[in-house]
Amino acid sequence: MRSRAFGEFVSARVARLIALWLLAIGTASAAGLQAYADLVRADPLPVHVVPPASGVRITYLGTNGYLLEARDTTLLVDPYFSRQSLARAAFNLDAVPQPKLVDQWLRQHPHIDAVLVTHGHVDHLLDVPQILRTTDAQMIGSETSVRLVRSMNIAGAHLHAVRYGDKLHVRQATVDVLPAKHDRVLGSVPFNGRARNLPPRKVGDWVAGEPLAFLIQLGGKRIFINAGAGPGAPEIRARDIDLAILGVATPDSVRAFPAEVDQLHPRFVLPSHQDNFFQPLARGFSFLPLTNFPAVRAAANARRTELVLLDYFRPWTLR
Ligand SMILES: [Zn+2]
Repeated sequence: MRSRAFGEFVSARVARLIALWLLAIGTASAAGLQAYADLVRADPLPVHVVPPASGVRITYLGTNGYLLEARDTTLLVDPYFSRQSLARAAFNLDAVPQPKLVDQWLRQHPHIDAVLVTHGHVDHLLDVPQILRTTDAQMIGSETSVRLVRSMNIAGAHLHAVRYGDKLHVRQATVDVLPAKHDRVLGSVPFNGRARNLPPRKVGDWVAGEPLAFLIQLGGKRIFINAGAGPGAPEIRARDIDLAILGVATPDSVRAFPAEVDQLHPRFVLPSHQDNFFQPLARGFSFLPLTNFPAVRAAANARRTELVLLDYFRPWTLR
C-alpha cells in the first residue's frame, strides 16, 4: 500500500507540473492548420458513406484517433471523443466519458471490425468500452489495455491481448504488433504502470501499460502507426510503407521523428497527436503547446517523404 500511495503522489506531482508548464506556455501556440493549408489533404466533398473501392480512406478523429476504411475492412485506432480538460488530467480527477458524443459518431459509422489501441491512457482507451458495447468490433491492445476494458464488464471474447511479434488477421487486414516507447514528460512517463483489476475511475487509473505500434496492411496499402516516441521495430526497415502516422506530442517524440522517418522511408508521413487534446473536439484543430511542428516539418522536408496533415473529420483516401 505504501508504494502505491507513493506512486500516486508522484503521478499527481508530475501531472501538476505538466499542468503548470502547459498553462505557462499554452497561450503562445493556439494556432490551427491554416498556416499549413498546403499540406492538408482531403477528398473532395461530399464525404462518401460507402468505403472506397481501392486504397484506404483515412479520417482523423483528433489526438491519435483514426478511422481506416478499405473495401472490405474498417478499423479504428485510438478513438477518443470524450476529451478530458487539462485541469481534470493535471489534478487526476475522475475521468468523465461523454457517451452522447461517441453515440453521435457511431450512428454514422456503425460497422467497425476492430479497434486497435496503442496504450491504456485515457486519451486512447476511455471511449473504447462504449464502442465495443455498441458495435461488433473486437479490441486489439496490450494486456494492460485489455485488463482495463475487461474491468468495465466487456466480455473477454471481444478482447485480444497482443504483444510485440504477434500477427493478426481482421477480415482482409493484417496487423503486425510492434514495440513502441511512450514519450516522457518532464523526465518520466505520465500515469505509467499496469492496470489493477478494478474499473478505472480517475484519469490516472487509465495507465499506459505496454506501448505498442502497429503495421497495418489493408486496401493494398501499408500503414505504420506509432503514438509516441520511436524507434519502431528494427525488422520493419526497408519494407514499403505507404504511410507512417507518427505521434509527435512532446519534445521526446519530436526528437525521435527524424530517425523514425529514416528507418521507415514512408511514401507519406502524417504527424499525429500534436493537437491540443485537452480542448473539446468541437473547437477544431489547434496545436498542442508542447509540440514543435516547424521542427517536424523541417525534418520531413530534409527527407524523401511527403509530409501531409489531416483536419478533424475530413477524410483523405490513400491510393
Ligand atoms: Zn499516452
